[in-house]
Amino acid sequence: MTKRFDVVVIGGGHAGCEAAAAAARVGAKTLLLTHRIETIGEMSCNPAIGGLGKGHLAREIDALDGLMGRVADASGIQFRLLNRRKGPAVRGPRAQADRKLYRRAMQAALKEIPGLTIMADEADDLLIREGRIEGVLTGSGERISSPSVVVTTGTFLRGLIHIGEKKIPAGRVGEAPALGLSKTLYSLGFNMGRLKTGTPPRLNGRTIDWAGLRVQPGDDPPVPFSFLTSSITTPQIPCHLTGTTSQTHEIIRKNITRAPIYSGQIESNGPRYCPSIEDKVVRFEGKDGHQIFLEPEGLDDDTIYPNGISTSLPEDVQREFLKTIPGLEKAEIVRPGYAVEYDYVDPRELSSALETKRVPGLFLAGQINGTTGYEEAAAQGLVAGVNAASKAGSSEFFVLDRSQAYIGVLIDDLVTRGVSEPYRMFTSRAEYRLTLRADNADQRLNAIGERVGLIGSERKAAFSKKLGQLNDVREQVSALSLTPSEAKKAGITVRQDGIRRSAAELLSFPQVSFGDISKVWPQLSGVAPLIVEQIEIDAHYAGYLDRQEADIIAFRRDESLALPDDFDYAAVNGLSNECRLKLSQIRPGTLGQASRIDGMTPAALTLVLAYLKVSRRSGTARRHAV
Ligand code: FAD
Repeated sequence: MTKRFDVVVIGGGHAGCEAAAAAARVGAKTLLLTHRIETIGEMSCNPAIGGLGKGHLAREIDALDGLMGRVADASGIQFRLLNRRKGPAVRGPRAQADRKLYRRAMQAALKEIPGLTIMADEADDLLIREGRIEGVLTGSGERISSPSVVVTTGTFLRGLIHIGEKKIPAGRVGEAPALGLSKTLYSLGFNMGRLKTGTPPRLNGRTIDWAGLRVQPGDDPPVPFSFLTSSITTPQIPCHLTGTTSQTHEIIRKNITRAPIYSGQIESNGPRYCPSIEDKVVRFEGKDGHQIFLEPEGLDDDTIYPNGISTSLPEDVQREFLKTIPGLEKAEIVRPGYAVEYDYVDPRELSSALETKRVPGLFLAGQINGTTGYEEAAAQGLVAGVNAASKAGSSEFFVLDRSQAYIGVLIDDLVTRGVSEPYRMFTSRAEYRLTLRADNADQRLNAIGERVGLIGSERKAAFSKKLGQLNDVREQVSALSLTPSEAKKAGITVRQDGIRRSAAELLSFPQVSFGDISKVWPQLSGVAPLIVEQIEIDAHYAGYLDRQEADIIAFRRDESLALPDDFDYAAVNGLSNECRLKLSQIRPGTLGQASRIDGMTPAALTLVLAYLKVSRRSGTARRHAV
């Protein structure tokens, strides 16, 4: 008998786990179909979650009751809040994880979700009838029926590993590539390309000379990812730092023609912001050293991940250059570094809901859409999972915009601009950085998540308690006030201008802390540190946030101008061929999205808007009568 599900998610990586969990959370009968149960939640490259921009994504996933934050908290062995000395908008939580614990925690979290079935098999083909998705055909010949399918196959589509001159068909080291699915996507006419990413050699920690290397401890106490985690209980360990030397660079230069990206063996683009060591040596010729973080892969694992020397040079060259790095002179390679090339689908094939425009019911998420990174994958997975469930249940799609979340920025960038290299998140990609902070992700997203049914009872209760406390203190700091002379008497220096200031206004001065005002008003002492942090950030940013709010209102005006899916751009007089072509291909959902298409001009947007207004009146905006 054919198995039937509301949603089938293909792939148990970071996108797949969040997609399956989200679909099931909103009530869909969901199947997670993946090669092997044991590799669910595998971190293919560095054993770390978060960082700049990526930490924001992880917090947003958590705020929407996703799994990544809680799993990182359960497996994190070193937590650091990056950019701590900079403003809160650009601070990024990061945790290095015990690889094995991460996998186990993810698998355990998935097993607890009602309505989610997990099955080990390969998805070999998509079942399509009359142009829309109908299910999946597995490698073992089983037909699974479903109106919604989410493909999250990462680097597996026609994956090809390169180690120097050696080429091995694989999605990840030791795992076969996905060939059938790649063929299907090509045959459906998707615009596809090849990208590449790489990983460093893994080292045996017992063969590293640790003495003399700089130690980098984590934060004490560690700051968790999840708004639900009160404290981290996993033992914490330090990292060490070393770096390449001019000798390392000389060896790499001497062997550069043996590197697949320089020999012409790899033609696809890799992540510009996460270059291989051979790339760094060539691009930054004047630099005679690059930093390397030696990150343990686990508490009971001697394997070390040398962060900063991803490479696809031949193994003998890897061995030779390691000898020139302080501390690594005698380091044994457990597994050589490699690059992997894989197929990706041009994300402009997708709507903002991550559904393909070509095949209704087919959703794509993660590295298959041209991104790199666990957090980018997980964020897309969550959105695709909810929307796949919505499609099956005929409810409205869940779309976050650029002013609501980094998740919105990520998806809008992908579906509007496409990619020419693996896309990763940075805080600089967000226009509304002051509003989209990692610390307030729950306040931004919890209510939105609740509306679509994503938020479980535990989080609902925790957030409502936190919001109650926060609002209570917010009211108090707005109501309590001092004259300048009273402030002076209390040891708070403000201009003696006779203006009475509220506690919130006093807090907006950089020299005034919550500690200072709670000395004046003892009822404010004893407020939880997390609430204090929020109140201080609110106060420091108050003026800027008001201005940003005005920008957001203007942004939403354009976003609210919906362009019909079948808008007839050919009928708009005066549009340049380039703009007409791009608009017809991308089919932006709103005028705002149209404005962000590369090469779009204000004149073109004015023409589109004018045509939209006229045709709304006469009912002719669409290619077909509505
Ligand atoms: P993956 O995590 O790759 O998961 C794909 C899942 O799909 C796997 O479980 C697989 O078994 C399953 N699958 C595939 N095909 C099928 C099929 N046909 N049927 C059933 N199951 C299938 N990111 C960074 O941020 N920085 C880096 O430096 C970096 N380097 C990397 C180096 C390497 C060598 C690799 C492989 C990845 C690297 N990444 C890096 C990327 C990071 O690992 C991915 O972005 C992230 O894992 C993508 O998540 P995903 O869920 O899209 O896919």
